[in-house]
Amino acid sequence: MNFEMVFDSDKGFRKEELKNIAFVSEHNVLVEIKYVGICGSDFFYMNKYRGENLRLGHEWVGVVKESNSLNFSIGDMVTSTATWGCGKCAECLIENENQCLDNIVLGSEKIGMLRTQCVIDEKNLILLEGFTLKSAALLEVAAVGHKIACKAKIEGDDILILGAGPVGLLSAISLKEQGLDPLLIDVEPNRVERAKKLGIRAKILGETLLLKTKYDVVVDCTGDSNEKIGGWKYLPYFVRPGSYCLIVGHYEKACQFDSHLFGKFALRVEWLKGISGNEYKNSITFWRGRLENYTNDLITGYFKLEDVSEAYKFASNLKKSLKTLVEL
Ligand SMILES: [Zn+2]
Ligand SMILES: [Zn+2]
Repeated sequence: MNFEMVFDSDKGFRKEELKNIAFVSEHNVLVEIKYVGICGSDFFYMNKYRGENLRLGHEWVGVVKESNSLNFSIGDMVTSTATWGCGKCAECLIENENQCLDNIVLGSEKIGMLRTQCVIDEKNLILLEGFTLKSAALLEVAAVGHKIACKAKIEGDDILILGAGPVGLLSAISLKEQGLDPLLIDVEPNRVERAKKLGIRAKILGETLLLKTKYDVVVDCTGDSNEKIGGWKYLPYFVRPGSYCLIVGHYEKACQFDSHLFGKFALRVEWLKGISGNEYKNSITFWRGRLENYTNDLITGYFKLEDVSEAYKFASNLKKSLKTLVEL
């Protein structure tokens, strides 16, 4: 049976049969989902959501089962960005579908990839070559990490990354692979140790505060979901005049500006909003031959699709989980 797991804010996940999946119209492709990564932003959406039909899952990889497109053949490994553009607006025409105001978000009431199969328009599909399925499952988060790294390195050499979760780690790995030496900090000792094992310079937050070092760039990959404290309020301790701050993690509570403090440092603060198809494709070229070396260390758990509640429970434990995958 083809099915999906749908989230209800009162009752948790339920299994729902997928009907009419066999019909693949022109320019469409039927994809069998193989892995779906659990992401920190899923918790943000689950905690905010009030309703019965939230469909999660935006980090995914699958294999083409049937194709009505000249660009994809049966057996091809494929994925997509986390947003599917309308295909018509000015942003979509230059593959900036993350900026399309009429886009479909994976992880909304409309669609998520916690499902066995999906019919997808070819314009939303990305062909993956030169990856194993497991490392391909990390590509979305690796693409976000690579985008962060590319933005950060333009702004200076002294780069601080707050939060040693998958996004923080992959940003640091991308920077390292490009010859830079960022500092990655976290409050969780296990996460710091894990980062060090991956060859990243990493420290505990408290220790770093005592050093009073200032940075050209501060990237906040923390957010405040699941009772996390969030790196936002520590920004003023790490900046010098003109520093650039990139906010990546999701905040459920308000991020308050102390306008005097921020004015004093003339800080430039930017929020990251996903990645476009072009950025995703560029990052695939970057990670090919590289991501494989980190894959086993980054994945800390596998769960069946039916056991997705367990998967989320495990993923919320920051001591144990780094990237938890749903395996089909
Ligand atoms: Zn994600
Ligand atoms: Zn559009």
